[in-house]
Amino acid sequence: MSFDLHAVIRPEVRAQVPYRTGVEPPAGPRVKLDANESPFSLGEALRGELAAEFARALADVALHRYPDPTAREVRALLARDLGISGEQILVANGSDEAIQLLQMVVAGPGASLAIPVPTFVMYAIGGRAMGIRVVEVPLGDDFSLDASRFLDTLRRERPRLVFLAWPNNPTGNLFDPGAVEAILGACAGRDCHALVVVDEAYVPYSGESFLPRLPECPNLVILRTLSKIGLAGIRLGILIANADVVQEVNKVRMPYNVNALSQAAARVVLAHGDVVAQQAAVIVHERERVLAALGAMAGVRAFPSRANFVLVRPQRSGDAVCADLLARGIVVRNFSRAPGLADCLRVTIGSREENDAFLEALAASVGPGRDT
Ligand code: PMP
Repeated sequence: MSFDLHAVIRPEVRAQVPYRTGVEPPAGPRVKLDANESPFSLGEALRGELAAEFARALADVALHRYPDPTAREVRALLARDLGISGEQILVANGSDEAIQLLQMVVAGPGASLAIPVPTFVMYAIGGRAMGIRVVEVPLGDDFSLDASRFLDTLRRERPRLVFLAWPNNPTGNLFDPGAVEAILGACAGRDCHALVVVDEAYVPYSGESFLPRLPECPNLVILRTLSKIGLAGIRLGILIANADVVQEVNKVRMPYNVNALSQAAARVVLAHGDVVAQQAAVIVHERERVLAALGAMAGVRAFPSRANFVLVRPQRSGDAVCADLLARGIVVRNFSRAPGLADCLRVTIGSREENDAFLEALAASVGPGRDT
C-alpha cells in the first residue's frame, strides 16, 4: 500500500516542530524544576483531618456516568471565591484547552492573533495549528512590553485575539498594568476589535489581577489554572469573561471536557483555599530567597520574577550549565535557543531543599574557571 501522509496533513501542522514538555528526566533521584509545578502536593496537604473528605469525594464519583457537562459545582465554588457569577466562568481541561477554545472561536479566513515574544508557546502553537496568523511583537531587552509598539501593531494587523501572560512565562515579569490597560482599550475601538486574554496562571504568586476590570471591559478574558498550585495532574483550567463571551466559547467546548474525578478533586480543594494560600506564601518567600542568592552569585544574571519560577542567564553557555545541572539530577527548562532568550534557563521554585540543591549546583557550574 502506498499512503502519502503529507498529502492529508495541513501544511501549517506539517511545518510545526512537535512541542516537547521537557527533557527526558535522568534515572535516579532528581530535582524537578522544569515545569512550574508546585513542590507541594495538595493531596498530601489535605491529608490528616481532610483525608476522609478527599477520599469520600473521589469514591462517591459515579464512574459509570458522564461527568456534569457544565461543572456546575466547581463553577459555583469559583464564582463564590471570585465574587462573580457562574455564567462568567468556563472550566477546561487545563488552561491549555481554554487557550485552544479561544483560538477556535476566532479562527477563519483572515484571522490573526497578536502576542509579545518571548511568551508562553501554546498561544502561537495552537494558533498556527488552526490556521491563524500569529503576529509577534518583541519585548524589550528587560522583557518589558512596549505599549506604543504593540498598539501600532494592533492598528496595522487588526488581530481578533491578543494573549498577554501576566506574569509572563518564561520571563517572570508583570507587564506594566497601564500598557495592558491601553491594549484593552485599543482592542475595543474603531481600529481594532479583539478579545484580550490576560493569562493569570501565576496569580497566586503575583497577587495582582485584572479581575476587577471585568465589568467595564467587554473584551477582557482572564485565564486561571489549578496547575500551579499543586494540582497540575487533574488538568483544570478556568476561563473568566463576561457572560456573552463565555456563552460563545461554550459552543465549541466538548461537552465532557473536565472529567468527574477532576471535578471532585477540585471541589474539595476549592473548599480549602487557605491551604493553597499558605503554600503560595511559602513559595513566594522561597522565590525572594532564591533571587537574593542569585543576585549575590557571580557569573549569572537573574531577572526579577512575580511568578513561581525565575529566569537566569549564566555568562557561560546555557546548554553547558543545563548539562552540569542535569548531571547532578537537577532538571530545569533550557530556553538557550529560543528567540530573545539566548543562554537563558527557567527554574521553577521548589521546596527549600530543592532550591538549595539548585543554587549549589549552579554556583559550581558558573564558578571561577568555568568560562566556556
Ligand atoms: N498559561 C501559562 C502562562 C502557562 O505558563 C501555562 C503552563 N505552563 C499554562 C497557561 C497552561 O497551564 P495548564 O496546566 O492549566 O494547561
